[in-house]
Amino acid sequence: MPELPEVETVKRTLNELIKGKQIENVTVRLPRIIQRPDDTQAFAHMLAGHSVVHVERRGKFLRFVFDGLVMVSHLRMEGRYGLFQGDELLDKHTHVIFHFTDGTELRYTDVRQFGTMHLFQPGEDLLLKPLSKLGQEPLDPSFTVERFKEIVSGKNTKIKPLLLNQEYVVGIGNIYVDEALHRAGIHPEVSAKALTEEQLNKLHHAIVATLTEAVNAGGSSVKSYVNGQGESGSYQQQLLIYGRKDQPCATCGTLIEKSVVGGRGTHICPSCQPLAAAVK
Ligand SMILES: [Zn+2]
Repeated sequence: MPELPEVETVKRTLNELIKGKQIENVTVRLPRIIQRPDDTQAFAHMLAGHSVVHVERRGKFLRFVFDGLVMVSHLRMEGRYGLFQGDELLDKHTHVIFHFTDGTELRYTDVRQFGTMHLFQPGEDLLLKPLSKLGQEPLDPSFTVERFKEIVSGKNTKIKPLLLNQEYVVGIGNIYVDEALHRAGIHPEVSAKALTEEQLNKLHHAIVATLTEAVNAGGSSVKSYVNGQGESGSYQQQLLIYGRKDQPCATCGTLIEKSVVGGRGTHICPSCQPLAAAVK
């Protein structure tokens, strides 16, 4: 699933590609992608005639801001956008097509069919699901170390599932949580309330640094993720721990282990991230 760096990259690419374009009409080939309104014909009808002001990101969601409407889109496992000429061959997994007045088309393709789109009046989208319950943006200047400590402190939850909970901090998924915990030398199963002041400082820094570096590299393409222009990000080459089971840790040479924490596959260097230190 794309995480903050991948969605941020898609957002930036979409802004280069579709800003200012006006929708002539919309074709929905798989109704279940459209979550709001209930009626897919109403979805298409509402969008016709509106122009793209810009595209924003909130957590792992894209916000398409039109003149007078907002569309919230989640790519889930394998959703992707691409800009095509209207006469280019359609992929069988293309489910929603935004036809622009200049003859180009923004196509939403999703092999797994888990992606969602919600259409709102401006301002409504931040007050209603799915955006209303989202927590802190980790790359916003408001994500200070003090703010991070407020979020984490006293919680009797393992740190990894806490960081994956989008109601606390948004945009971090299974790849970047493993990377950030490794960089901070923290075992994913340590209870949040057991973290020392020094560990919290390290973890805050590790989260911001990992996400910033990944954004700068255009995200990771660990599975089949590509950005809105069909280019792969390159951060997977810099991953220190994710997907590196049985390979030596870059810091200490110990073999990286994979286990399951909170139902998620989890990569740990047992020597850099000792659990004993965590449970004291
Ligand atoms: Zn190590």
